[in-house]
Amino acid sequence: MARIQSVRGMSDILPGETSQWQYLESVVRALLSRYGYQEIRFPILEQTELFKRSIGEVTDIVEKEMYTFADRNGDSLTLRPEGTASCVRACEQNGLLHNQQQRLWYAGPMFRHERPQKGRLRQFHQIGVETFGMAGPDIDAELIALTARLWRELGINEALTLELNSIGTAESRGRYKAALVDYLAGFVDELDEDSQRRLGTNPLRILDSKSPRTQELLKDAPVLKDYLDDAANAHFSGLCARLDQMGIAYRINTRLVRGLDYYGLTVFEWTTEKLGAQGTVCAGGRYDGLVEQLGGRATPAVGFAMGVERLVLLLETLGVMPASAPSADVFIVAVGERAEIAALTLAERIREGAPQLKVQSNCGGGSFKSQFKKADKSGARWALVLGEEELSRGEVAIKPLRDAAAEQQLVAISAVVDQLTGAAAEQ
Ligand code: ATP
Ligand code: MG
Repeated sequence: MARIQSVRGMSDILPGETSQWQYLESVVRALLSRYGYQEIRFPILEQTELFKRSIGEVTDIVEKEMYTFADRNGDSLTLRPEGTASCVRACEQNGLLHNQQQRLWYAGPMFRHERPQKGRLRQFHQIGVETFGMAGPDIDAELIALTARLWRELGINEALTLELNSIGTAESRGRYKAALVDYLAGFVDELDEDSQRRLGTNPLRILDSKSPRTQELLKDAPVLKDYLDDAANAHFSGLCARLDQMGIAYRINTRLVRGLDYYGLTVFEWTTEKLGAQGTVCAGGRYDGLVEQLGGRATPAVGFAMGVERLVLLLETLGVMPASAPSADVFIVAVGERAEIAALTLAERIREGAPQLKVQSNCGGGSFKSQFKKADKSGARWALVLGEEELSRGEVAIKPLRDAAAEQQLVAISAVVDQLTGAAAEQ
């Protein structure tokens, strides 16, 4: 029978890769905790309406990328394409936003029906950070400082550039959109197909176009910056001043817009040239209108999400991933049924007395030779050898596997924990 394959664009993350994910996750987790952020977890499925109302009906995500289906009751549900909308829904529903400030994070899979390629999957993973109840540029600056520190701690800061823009209030974006459409209307035939379509639906996204001709036309187009009001300008210069003060470099990109409708004022992206076309590893911005749009009270909010696959790729590409630790420190070799039973007890005794050591029992029989092969492959520093003869004397042989000069020793079973603990401390 034909083997069943995974769904296209949805990858398995194999044991050889999970240590890299765990490393990244543990660094992020520790850092977020140092900044006082708390984890929140919410479902992977939501009512479709949540994403339509937040991300926007005429965005790429809602128009063509969502996994939407009717469940057995006929309700329209969607696998979350991102976390912000769900996070707002969860906070609002559980009363976390009323007169409170929140600094939150989450991690997990997101789903978008895109064309799979390097750094672009249909199930991908994000670590997202969202803050609520803080209106000034200081929290924007804190979030950016947090990401900048993360890149330094991961050793990838030199490969990343911060791009920054302000897309103003909905009102000024409205005036700018009208001006942009007016200008581009004179060149409709020269625009790429996507941009032609967006002219009538989401003209700001035209600024994002990858078409060289469209980009050429945009050179003389009106600039969003000229349409910002004083409050937006003050917020943006406040943010820039704080970043300058903290020594965080950025590039102002007046064409940076985001593909989701809820953003306003600050938007930013961290990008790299090391990953080819999928170079954005982290993206975010302010979304002061979203809570109200979803039925809550007006609440200032700002956040970002990073793409875990792309970050893992970057860590690999730059060769800054720490070597993964071997799966065992101690490997127990046992031949014969009596020895196999004794091996399990001995393994438990070591796990009890020396919890810092990773202990692997052979399990599954085999000759001394084949068991030693497994011991070697496990990366363990010591093999403990249990044979009939040793057993009848109440002894175990401790054989060093990584140090050619060290000799095998016979030790009483009752002394094994002390012996291993002492040897481990010496190294
Ligand atoms: P892109 O422009 O690359 O499509 P986006 O603007 O759609 O990104 P966001 O919705 O802002 O992305 O998501 C934040 C981050 O999540 C991105 O910067 C990226 O690192 C990651 N990401 C988004 N879509 C995918 C995907 N299909 N596969 C892998 N990672 C993704
Ligand atoms: Mg996208």
